[in-house]
Amino acid sequence: EPAGDGDGARPRPPISFELFPPRTDAAAIALGRTIDRLAEADPAFISVTFGAGGSSRDRSLTVLRYMLEHTDVEPMAHLTCVGSSHAEANRLVREFLDAGVTSFLALRGDPPVGAGPEAGIGDLESAAELVQLIHRVQEEREPYGQVGIPGIPGATRILERPRPERVAVAAFPTGHPRSRGAGQDVDVLLAKEVAGANLAITQLFWHADDYLGFVERARAGGVTIPILPGIMPVTTPARLARLEQLTGVPAPSELAIALEIEPDADAQFDLGVDFAADLAGEVLAGGAPGLHLYTFNRHEAVLAVLDLLGLRTIPAHAGTERNTRER
Ligand code: FAD
Repeated sequence: EPAGDGDGARPRPPISFELFPPRTDAAAIALGRTIDRLAEADPAFISVTFGAGGSSRDRSLTVLRYMLEHTDVEPMAHLTCVGSSHAEANRLVREFLDAGVTSFLALRGDPPVGAGPEAGIGDLESAAELVQLIHRVQEEREPYGQVGIPGIPGATRILERPRPERVAVAAFPTGHPRSRGAGQDVDVLLAKEVAGANLAITQLFWHADDYLGFVERARAGGVTIPILPGIMPVTTPARLARLEQLTGVPAPSELAIALEIEPDADAQFDLGVDFAADLAGEVLAGGAPGLHLYTFNRHEAVLAVLDLLGLRTIPAHAGTERNTRER
């Protein structure tokens, strides 16, 4: 029986998912179906990654628009600022706001591979500056202000600006690859909170203590915003190795070995899902405010994780009420 149903049980912790923009038409169609399935789990938001330098801008927007038009899920746009001028970053934020997206994950992003340490950094040097810019653009936006009240000649009222729902930022429980030490990772996160971030989402980690220890250090360092643990069920040895390359976070040897010696794909799937569900259960028990699940654009593994944790919202069937046991 899922946790959180009736009887004064604790409400389900918020669940969110992360996707990347598809590169082909076929992948785009498959992603639409994935989004529909993920939406049935009633996530707090689904975030869509953004290629540093803007390479995926249009494809990211297409996915976000799909969510706005076909689901009632809150879309969150990752945005990067590395290599952009102030004017370009301004235009980018406006474009996403104009599309109806009001939640962002503000990132610095990485300079192109092969670029020198200072090459292509542009005007904005850190995610904190992008956080400030998002708030500023939001505040300057037209056309909010006084509007007439229909049916009452001469009467007006003030239309409130839609505030950014969430301005999230990245956090690195096991340290950013370029970090000079654990203290710096907390300082950088605090700087982003001071700039206006209201949520942090972590990089992958493989041991609950990495996350829980980081949260403890962040709280001691003055960070107060929620820090959502980012968790990914990894169901093939090749993907686990690739993630280590991409994130710089060493893969857990017990999972790596288990995946390597298991020949059967279904059994590999179960290994990855079990590992992620155990990790998620441990961080939730340790006080995590929710779960952010990296999907790799597939719904099966993340929904299986939620099933194991008893956190899946049962999809509504034709003609029945939508299941609304959240919050
Ligand atoms: P920042 O927080 O600006 O930090 C970047 C570096 O600068 C760090 O090394 C930090 O130590 C240092 N630094 C920053 N401010 C200070 C300061 N005041 N004093 C000293 N040092 C400082 N990348 C993409 O391209 N697209 C994505 O969609 C994307 N999504 C991501 C989602 C999540 C949840 C995470 C964890 C990462 C994601 N990334 C993405 C990767 C991210 O862009 C890189 O990790 C990048 O190197 C750092 O971005 P940041 O936002 O953490 O930068």
